[in-house]
Amino acid sequence: MNKKELFTTILVFLFISIAINLVLVKTNVIKYNNIFIDGQEVEIEIMDELENIYNDTLEYEIPVCLAGEVTDNGISIRAMIEAEIVSTSLHNVTYVSCPLYIGSQRVIGTIHNHPSGECRLSNQDIETYVNDMSRGQEVIGLYCGEYVFFILSRLEGVIPE
Ligand SMILES: [Zn+2]
Repeated sequence: MNKKELFTTILVFLFISIAINLVLVKTNVIKYNNIFIDGQEVEIEIMDELENIYNDTLEYEIPVCLAGEVTDNGISIRAMIEAEIVSTSLHNVTYVSCPLYIGSQRVIGTIHNHPSGECRLSNQDIETYVNDMSRGQEVIGLYCGEYVFFILSRLEGVIPE
């Protein structure tokens, strides 16, 4: 790849990334933070199981499938299983897609940790997210020292009729 091609490739990636971010902003990505304070909005019945997995000393990412319910009042997480990992590192994780159900609970999304402590979604997270949405998922969570959840459930509101 020569310099010009490299430059073009970088520009294209930049544009795609900006476009995806614009879509997320336009479609009301709701960020629920500080779940311990804001317990009504994010209810996690399986906190003990999550705490068994996530801590600040992890040096690689672990993805977990979350099941429960998304309502107008927030989200309720009632079941989880660790996703089957294909590869994982400090900044990246590839995993086999979550099942549609865990027991009788519908899979509503995923959570993974950021060993860097970064609480924002990476570009790869957003790509994965958009992909998972086509499978009916609405929630992406991060453990970055605290638990942060992003919900994208208003998408049908912006699809033109
Ligand atoms: Zn991530």
